[in-house]
Amino acid sequence: MNKLVIASNNAGKLREFQPMLAPLGIEVLTQSQLGISEAEEPHCTFIENALAKARHVSRLSGLPALADDSGICVEALGGAPGALSARYAGEPKSDRRNNDKLLQVLQDVTDRRAHYYCVLVLVRHAGDPQPLIAEGEWHGEIAHEERGEGGFGYDPMFWLPEFGKMSAELSHEEKAQVSHRAKALKILLQRLRAA
Ligand code: IMP
Repeated sequence: MNKLVIASNNAGKLREFQPMLAPLGIEVLTQSQLGISEAEEPHCTFIENALAKARHVSRLSGLPALADDSGICVEALGGAPGALSARYAGEPKSDRRNNDKLLQVLQDVTDRRAHYYCVLVLVRHAGDPQPLIAEGEWHGEIAHEERGEGGFGYDPMFWLPEFGKMSAELSHEEKAQVSHRAKALKILLQRLRAA
């Protein structure tokens, strides 16, 4: 494989992926560079949405495609917002409104445990019967307020007791060592090398 399209227009994800994929020596393109529209994400599970996005981009580009479906799962909410994380506060997608909604929903909740989840799906072609799949989780807590300028999405309120920081306060390098996306990508790269 010498070319790969990342099936995402999320600037935060793309910023994190590109350095992580650089050592592979594969030319990494994005779906917006190829003028490919966003796929529908109608499903309630991450894996179904990731497969839909990867197939959509591979079909329209004729190239292998890597999709990430990810989000935050709050224990006290039975895993919500989950696969709906990007649109938790409705359309149009807004990190600002999602974060405000989550803080408000959890106002009187004492169990603040939460984890990020990421599933990566790589299809070598649109009809690939054996997509490469890898998952990662990153555990923390939802804080009562926001802090930090890094990351994206829910990072300003994702508290990491082991760092004593919000994930938005980590450097790019720190987040790239420990995040759900980093863990999933490490496994995916092992599978890719073994395939
Ligand atoms: P997707 O593009 O449908 O996979 O939605 C991902 C959504 O989950 C993002 O819009 C964020 O709200 C949230 N999310 C996923 N990964 C992260 C992360 O690393 N930091 C912060 N928010 C994240």
